[in-house]
Amino acid sequence: MSFSFLPRWITPALTDITPDFLTSHGIHLLMMDFDNTIVPYTTNTPTPQMEAWLRSMAASDIKLCVVSNSKRDRVKVFCRQYGIACITHARKPFCRGIRQCLTRFDVSAEQAAIVGDQIFTDTLGGNCAGVKTILVRAIDNHNFWLKARHVLEKPFIYAARKRRM
Ligand SMILES: [Mg+2]
Repeated sequence: MSFSFLPRWITPALTDITPDFLTSHGIHLLMMDFDNTIVPYTTNTPTPQMEAWLRSMAASDIKLCVVSNSKRDRVKVFCRQYGIACITHARKPFCRGIRQCLTRFDVSAEQAAIVGDQIFTDTLGGNCAGVKTILVRAIDNHNFWLKARHVLEKPFIYAARKRRM
């Protein structure tokens, strides 16, 4: 449990993560951010590659749950369609939604990871809750504010990369 802006791992996309990688690090539960991690803000339709990844992960031993700050129905509708559990209004970087997910799945923080595209919500919230954190590149920063936020994230991405070298 730490107040840290540094993700434990950085990978270009959610689809790079494999059950073997998670299992080898003792992770049984993967919490996933929704917007710009699974689909961009502008569509509810995943790419064929993302859809195949979701189905293969769901068929693996890894438990999956979307943990999203979104208040919009599209997250619930999407998760229902793919048979994935979800927690909305999660209020990351606060820990409540993440802790709620750990309780729901009866998994300890050490056995869980959260993956998302935003350092100031997904990474910080995950680190504060004591779960392992994975940063992915945002699928599409389609407006000025998302691009500006990414500029603010860059020093932390640099520091996280440097730390691992
Ligand atoms: Mg996001």
